[in-house]
Amino acid sequence: MTNTTEPRDPITGSCACGGIRYRIDGALKNARSCHCSRCRKTFSGQASAYAEVDPEATFTWTQGEALLTRFETMPEFGLAFCSRCGSTLCGTHRGRVHGVTLGCVDGDPGVVIEMHIFVDSKAPWEVMPEGVVSYPEGPPSRVHASRAPT
Ligand SMILES: [Zn+2]
Ligand SMILES: [Zn+2]
Repeated sequence: MTNTTEPRDPITGSCACGGIRYRIDGALKNARSCHCSRCRKTFSGQASAYAEVDPEATFTWTQGEALLTRFETMPEFGLAFCSRCGSTLCGTHRGRVHGVTLGCVDGDPGVVIEMHIFVDSKAPWEVMPEGVVSYPEGPPSRVHASRAPT
């Protein structure tokens, strides 16, 4: 059998204090940035920066899983963050890792932010960069089917 996919190092990530680390054997997909008021609070910034873990990929906590604290943001969807430094590391769906915050990825995650959503709800102090793909509200239905936890 020939594996036609390009060999790639695993994607790794960690929190600000380095207590929690993970690796993803496989790819990320649907990277996006949501500017809604809820994501601003959740990500403590102007927007989220989030990508889903491909269902074919394997996500593994390699260090510090006991430091994780989970917070449910809406039924079945939640977030997990470091109880020591506060970094938000991942989004969860029914307790499983659904996607990761791009800010906690170390190095190149192999994806770029494809779209900015809920831009009509952006903070009054945010200036959107020119030329980015943006939507006033939710993403197109293609992505909506696999929505983010936030
Ligand atoms: Zn930490
Ligand atoms: Zn949002």
